[in-house]
Amino acid sequence: MPLTWDDPRLTTPDDHLVTALASGGHIRLAACRSRTVVREAQRLHSLSPLSTLALGRLLTGGLLFASSFKHEDDNLTLRLDCSGPLRSMTVIAEGDGSCRGEIAAPQLPSLVDAKGRLAVRAAVEGGRLTVIRDLGLRDPYVGTVPLVSGEIAQDLISYLYYSEQRPGVMFLSVDLDGDRVRDAAGLLLEALPGADDALLAHIEERAAGFPEISYWLREGFTPAQLMDLLMGDPEIRLLELREVAYRCRCSRDRMRRNLAALGLDDREELAADPKGIDLVCHFCNHSYHFTQEEMGGLLP
Ligand SMILES: [Zn+2]
Repeated sequence: MPLTWDDPRLTTPDDHLVTALASGGHIRLAACRSRTVVREAQRLHSLSPLSTLALGRLLTGGLLFASSFKHEDDNLTLRLDCSGPLRSMTVIAEGDGSCRGEIAAPQLPSLVDAKGRLAVRAAVEGGRLTVIRDLGLRDPYVGTVPLVSGEIAQDLISYLYYSEQRPGVMFLSVDLDGDRVRDAAGLLLEALPGADDALLAHIEERAAGFPEISYWLREGFTPAQLMDLLMGDPEIRLLELREVAYRCRCSRDRMRRNLAALGLDDREELAADPKGIDLVCHFCNHSYHFTQEEMGGLLP
C-alpha cells in the first residue's frame, strides 16, 4: 500500500526513515530521525561529545545512503580514514534499517571552529572516504574519494557526485546538549537521471537558504515534513517508511568463524594460552570468551 501523508507512523517520535519522489520523479528524497541510534552508539562506545558528533553523523549518513536498498540483506560500508586525531570511522548500514559503527578515537577532545562550535573537521584534517556497496552480486562496488570538508555531509555528497555521478544535497544533524544527544536526523536529496540543470540550480538555491535541520527538529518537525519543507513541491510523493535502529550482527558463531579463518600460526599461538581468549566486537563491545579447549578444536 502506498505511504500517504495521513499515515500516523509519519508523526512517531521514534527513529524512522522516509523516502519520497519529487519534481516529476527527477528528485529522490530520504529523511530520517536517528536520535536513538546515536544515543546507542554513544552509550556502547562511551563517546565524548565530538566523537558522538562524528560517528553520529556518519551513522545517519549511512542510513540515508542505504535508503534505496531493495533487499534486507543489501548493505554498505562507509569507511573514513584521516590524518587527524579521529584517525578512522566505519559504519555499516543495511537494507532493513539496521546500522552499526565504530570510531578509532572514542574520546576526542572538544575541538572547536572559529565560532566556538564543535568541529569534526578539526579532528579530521585530510583523508579519504571509501564506500563499499554489497548488493549480493558477485563483486561489491567500491569507490573512494578524498575528503573535501571533514564535516561528513559534504564528503558523502562529494562521493555521490564524483564516484556515482549523482548530484545531491545532504544535511546531517546531531544536536547535543552538553553530553546528551538531544536529537539527530538527516536529509538527502539526489538528482535522478533526467533532472536538468535548471532544476538542479533551483534545488541548490533552496538548500543554500535552508536552516540547519536541528532548528526544524526543535520546532517539532518530522522527517517527512523536513523533505516537504526543503522541496516546496505540492506533488511530492511518499514512497516508503522503515524503522531504523543500531543493531549489531555479532554472535559466538560468527566470532568462531573469524577465528577459524585465521592462519595456522595465529591459531596455534592463541590456543597456547591456558586462560583461553576474549574477543571483543568492535561495533557493540560485546565480549566473547573461548576456552583453550575450544581454541584447540580449531586446530587441525
Ligand atoms: Zn557486536
